[in-house]
Amino acid sequence: MTPAEPQKVLVADDDPVNRDVLCELLQPEYTVLLAKNGAQAVERATRHVPDLVLLDVMMPDMSGFEVLRRLRATPQTEHVSVIFISGLDRPEDEAAGLKMGASDYIAKPFNATVVLARVALHLQLVRQRRLLEHLAHVDGLTELANRRRFDDVYDLEWQRARRSGRPLSLALLDIDSFKQFNDLYGHPAGDRALRAVARVAGTHMRRPADLAARYGGEELVLLMPETDAVQALQIAQALRQAVAELMIAHAGSAAASCITVSIGGASLDPAQAESSAALFEAADVQLYRAKQGGRNRVMWRGAQEALTDAG
Ligand code: GH3
Ligand code: MG
Ligand code: MG
Repeated sequence: MTPAEPQKVLVADDDPVNRDVLCELLQPEYTVLLAKNGAQAVERATRHVPDLVLLDVMMPDMSGFEVLRRLRATPQTEHVSVIFISGLDRPEDEAAGLKMGASDYIAKPFNATVVLARVALHLQLVRQRRLLEHLAHVDGLTELANRRRFDDVYDLEWQRARRSGRPLSLALLDIDSFKQFNDLYGHPAGDRALRAVARVAGTHMRRPADLAARYGGEELVLLMPETDAVQALQIAQALRQAVAELMIAHAGSAAASCITVSIGGASLDPAQAESSAALFEAADVQLYRAKQGGRNRVMWRGAQEALTDAG
């Protein structure tokens, strides 16, 4: 989220004078996109996903009501805020617009100051909603996705992998001897170490669909769609090594003289009807094996050896 970026407003009106007036009014503060008819409004909204649409109701080919209906039926624009600007000023027209899910309804001829104030208000609401959505799925300490976000994405990706027959890899990462670290260096230092490990985990998730999330405590989960066991194992191993290379001193570790992680992973075998819970459980079993085997290592279901340079 980049709060500094100007918000995008799409103005859809078949009257060029109205478009010019609104554009001039909004341009100093917002990025303004224009559409001269309903079809163009739908197309531009879907392509640019504006923060707000100022929508004329009466346009010749497609009415503003129809545009709104189409926006609501399209995943990209389903939640976009819409303000109707209309020459239809009967209360039942206004009520109809609001019932369809418009945020506001402004009657023509409009007053510039009022339009500007309402636009500012609705864009403020859009910002607040985005912020709440962000907070609802991001972990405050590590800034990775949180458990709730992971559960949702895992569900979706698991179904997608089952349908497509493409691979899906899942790994659990746990910091070694972390209780000892807190005991020795204090909880704030523990928090900093956890954040550093999370950052490294995040940078190893390179594809857009990859996800690193905080599963709980000092345990992270990595989800790698369209990634088979060989590729995922390589990534996990690189990540394990990168954490060791942070060289965060840990005098009380059972594994090394610095902070290390153990990773257990499993990849979905499209040929087998495995549940998402079973895949998760399989990764957890491998994490346990990595701990049992001496920590600071990666264990993957189906792979023969532990991948480590610790021992
Ligand atoms: P192992 O190598 O077997 O994983 O040992 P461990 O000490 O890491 O495992 P254990 O589950 O016994 O302890 C986990 C520790 O992680 C205990 C808890 O205080 C610490 N921890 C969990 N979440 C946080 C956190 O947000 N901040 C800090 N500083 N510590 C945390
Ligand atoms: Mg641990
Ligand atoms: Mg743990």
